[in-house]
Amino acid sequence: MLIDNHGRTVNYLRIAVTDRCNLRCFYCMPAEGIDYVPKKHLLSYEEMLRLVRILATMGISKVRITGGEPFVRKGIMDFILKLSQVEGIEQINLTTNGILTAPFIPQLLEMGIHSVNLSLDSLDKERFFKITRRDELHKVLDTLHLLVKNKVKTKINCVVMDGQNMEDILPMVNLAKEHDISVRFLEEMPFNGTGLRLQDFKWNFKNILAHIKQEFPNIYKIEDAPNSTSLNYKIEGFQGSIGLIPSFSRTFCGTCNRLRLTPQGMIKTCLYDDGVFNVKDLMRANLTNDELQTHILKAIGSRAKNGFEAEKNRKNQKGVSESMSTIGG
Ligand code: SAM
Ligand code: SF4
Repeated sequence: MLIDNHGRTVNYLRIAVTDRCNLRCFYCMPAEGIDYVPKKHLLSYEEMLRLVRILATMGISKVRITGGEPFVRKGIMDFILKLSQVEGIEQINLTTNGILTAPFIPQLLEMGIHSVNLSLDSLDKERFFKITRRDELHKVLDTLHLLVKNKVKTKINCVVMDGQNMEDILPMVNLAKEHDISVRFLEEMPFNGTGLRLQDFKWNFKNILAHIKQEFPNIYKIEDAPNSTSLNYKIEGFQGSIGLIPSFSRTFCGTCNRLRLTPQGMIKTCLYDDGVFNVKDLMRANLTNDELQTHILKAIGSRAKNGFEAEKNRKNQKGVSESMSTIGG
């Protein structure tokens, strides 16, 4: 088991397989995109698999594939297949924007994928375009319908943004009425590639809940899964559930069980840190698995207590400004 210096068990790895994306969500990256990492500086699938095999022997049993958009990287399905064959990896989850995802759903099911998080911030074509800068809502909705039809465990991630998608909150909640899905609302974080907030941070999880309560006063709290980042709720008569993710308030750090791997090979022990060490550089310098394990143990043994401490300890003191597509969420 991997246990950090605050007594938290770490058993979950999130892999951002690419920094490239086919959308341009304004809260994640600028309209012109970001400077993509040259291919040779990206971890290869083989390097990712090597790391996963090492981590699986150390206690990591759960993996999430994220990005950028995972489906824009060539060979992703073959990678997921190989990942599903690694001894000790019991659960594979996926986060996707749903643009290219639909045709792969049957294969993902065959590989035993555990759940899919689908990002969807608006059900309105024009607002979707304003947020993502692409006119592709219909593709995301097709993916959602196919996931539901195939009974894939599905969670929707909706970032709440003042002046952008407030009209969507209640229709989004209503998606959980007809479908057994979890609709989760995230606080916006400053990982937009500029570091500047485009609107005031008004919608923390408490205010989002109060907003939902006005329309659904009978919303009630349910038990959260261990290590859950979301606070979960039910509404009488609804098939699905509602979740609130305090991603900026950071109230969930006390039970954090995650490690992150960036497309360039940085190991992060907190979403808000700026990387602990680069595993790609060490692999390419021919370190052995035992030597890599030593670096991993050192990183786990000196984790920040929470996201505020991690942000304060950043080597780059300018604060959080990178694009979330270089981290994976
Ligand atoms: N491209 C995929 C997608 O959008 O689902 C996976 C990568 S994306 C970076 C992962 C998650 O991070 C998405 O649910 C997205 O909404 C969320 N995200 C990105 N930037 C964010 C920000 N500034 N604040 C809060 N959530 C953010
Ligand atoms: Fe792409 Fe996901 Fe970032 Fe949107 S949130 S730009 S879909 S990586």
